[in-house]
Amino acid sequence: AKNCGKNNAKLYSSSLTMQIMSHVKLEVGLRKALGNDELYLLYQPQFDVHSTEIVGVEALVRWRHPERGVISPTEFIPLAEETGLIVPIGEWVLRTACSQARNWQRQTRRSVRMAVNLSAKQFKDENLSQIVLSALHETGLDPRFLELELTEGTLMDDAKATLATLEQLRRIGVYLSIDDFGTGYSSMNYLKRFDVRALKIDRSFICGLPQDSENAAITRAIIAMAHGLKMVVVAEGVETGEQLVLLQQYGCDLVQGYHLGHPVPGDSIAQKLVGVVQA
Ligand code: C2E
Ligand code: CA
Ligand code: CA
Ligand code: CA
Repeated sequence: AKNCGKNNAKLYSSSLTMQIMSHVKLEVGLRKALGNDELYLLYQPQFDVHSTEIVGVEALVRWRHPERGVISPTEFIPLAEETGLIVPIGEWVLRTACSQARNWQRQTRRSVRMAVNLSAKQFKDENLSQIVLSALHETGLDPRFLELELTEGTLMDDAKATLATLEQLRRIGVYLSIDDFGTGYSSMNYLKRFDVRALKIDRSFICGLPQDSENAAITRAIIAMAHGLKMVVVAEGVETGEQLVLLQQYGCDLVQGYHLGHPVPGDSIAQKLVGVVQA
């Protein structure tokens, strides 16, 4: 049976002591990872569902560990959040992603939106808008080409502080979206109050389409609601051609997933963008 669960990739079976030891070792390693150039970004394309053109990419971080090889963000991002390392790591991700987006513009004469994941800790950091501003300023990227992906949990935490931070980001002119939509504890109320441009339907709903009629109903309902609120809808985790056709029929706007493109290094995206120009 197909597994529609989220981030269930932790396969190492070990005793508790082993787990704690490896946790501590990992933390020590993560503290050095940034300075040692062990982090890098891959970029997964997002396509317009109708024209099938690339309109954006999502930056996804990887850690090339000197002994263990490449480590998934599902393993080290939670650790980075626990230890606060997510703030410097997140700043590096933001700057690297903005710089990449600007380089693609220069190389290919095409502009795509760069989506960056923001964890709750980063969102709560009082320097966030300053960090975003300087990343844009130093790289020369136009703010409308930077998208920040937030989760429902991040937005629900403290309404007053959230509104203030969102207002600062709105004034900068970046594009805000809600990641993993439908999996958090969402009071729909915040959708009215916050100026968010896009919803990303979590892949646990896309998985199992077209057979799973409940997921189909949820997907259609999210698309209808988002469009009613004048928001853009992105479907994540599109793995088959059948799912793509269904999402076209449902009127979804953007699609992202292995069927259309895996996360790849920046050079591969540049090649794809140039390919579209020449076609
Ligand atoms: P996410 O933001 O929901 O990112 C989508 C994840 O789904 C990525 O996993 C991507 O590789 C994977 N994916 C894309 N298409 C498909 C598909 O068709 N099928 C399946 N099964 N999976 C697909 P990845 O790169 O391992 O990242 C996992 C999570 O780690 C991300 O989930 C995000 O929450 C977090 N993450 C990654 N990079 C960053 C970052 O720079 N900062 C922060 N704060 N979190 C990050
Ligand atoms: Ca994301
Ligand atoms: Ca997601
Ligand atoms: Ca996620």
